[in-house]
Amino acid sequence: MSTTHHITLIPGDGTGPEIVEATRRAIEATGVPIEWDVQEIGVPAMAKHGTPFPTEALDSIRRNKVGLKGPLTTELGKGFRSVNVALRKEFDLYANLRPAKTYPGVRTPMGNVDLVVVRENIEDLYAGIEFDLGTPELAAVRGAIEQASGAKIREDAAIAIKYISEMGSRRIAKFAFDYAVTNGRKKVTAVHKANVMKFADGLFLRVVGEVAKDYPQIEFEDRIVDNMCMQLVQKPELYDVLVLPNLYGDIVSDLVAGLVGGLGVAPGANIGENGIAVFEAIHGSAPKYAGQNKVNPMALMLAGVLMLRHIGEREAGDRLEQAMAAVVAEGRNVTYDLKAVRDDPSAVGTKEFADAVIARLQA
Ligand code: NAD
Repeated sequence: MSTTHHITLIPGDGTGPEIVEATRRAIEATGVPIEWDVQEIGVPAMAKHGTPFPTEALDSIRRNKVGLKGPLTTELGKGFRSVNVALRKEFDLYANLRPAKTYPGVRTPMGNVDLVVVRENIEDLYAGIEFDLGTPELAAVRGAIEQASGAKIREDAAIAIKYISEMGSRRIAKFAFDYAVTNGRKKVTAVHKANVMKFADGLFLRVVGEVAKDYPQIEFEDRIVDNMCMQLVQKPELYDVLVLPNLYGDIVSDLVAGLVGGLGVAPGANIGENGIAVFEAIHGSAPKYAGQNKVNPMALMLAGVLMLRHIGEREAGDRLEQAMAAVVAEGRNVTYDLKAVRDDPSAVGTKEFADAVIARLQA
């Protein structure tokens, strides 16, 4: 009898609560004993607790070290900044893991794809270090850069800083290689633009290369990011695990999600130092479908598969993935987005897709 896992469950908002409930039921049907600690973050927390980040919710994640999270709406231009970004910063969730795999029954532009994108989540151009037009800070930074580099920056330019550290590159590289070893992968490809950004991307490439030496059983190579995009579209089967700095990782992971059928089937995980990990679908809260029992819970269920593997329940994760793959391959009990025609009246709802997956698991 395995021990009970304690997991923080964040329903989110919009369609979040529906897909979280479907996923919770499917995970429970694997028989893995889990005690869920349900916590609100974001818009629903604001209503109840007056803050998007109630201490109880953050403490729960800190204590359990594992969270399964529904999408959270970011209210543009008011209230608070993206809660998703804030969560990443709060727990230093430096590794963004995005596997992308073709499932028969999902319409895709490509044949067989089975890729894993490992994106650095904290540094690079997305660190949030920006200077706006007309501010004294911009003038100071422009002056300092011009003096140090001898380069001239136009006065009507805003500035964003890209930084890449040795520590940040080493830990994401180690994460990618460890993931490859644990998950039976053969190759890691570092993606960069070191031919142009010789110092920042050059450092990334050098450090990933150094880490690669500790993993002789895993093949290592590198690609320049523009060439990588073309190759992923033409021959994705040549690649296995990709490791990238933040900005390239953001773009390439969406490209790769597109190769396997898009938002409805794309899971993700954000993993930090000291083992804290938050699993989610990469899509948003799709608010226009909220409360309609309509959207596809598969992306969050696939995030549940990643979570089960992460907590050491690999066999249960494999069973859940196979059950989903079987339902999708059969094509009968699937949501509207997986039907050939979007208004196909035979499409089932969120709950019924979960029922079909659970029936497979229990067959
Ligand atoms: P979205 O991903 O919520 O939805 C875009 C469209 O994609 C939907 O209208 C729907 O047609 C389709 N779609 C999305 N998920 C689907 C599913 N599971 N099944 C079937 N169809 C699905 O993107 P958006 O409308 O740009 O964002 C809505 C909100 O979500 C925004 O506030 C955004 O900031 C937030 N968001 C949150 C996360 C997160 O929590 N990780 C990620 C992305 C966006």
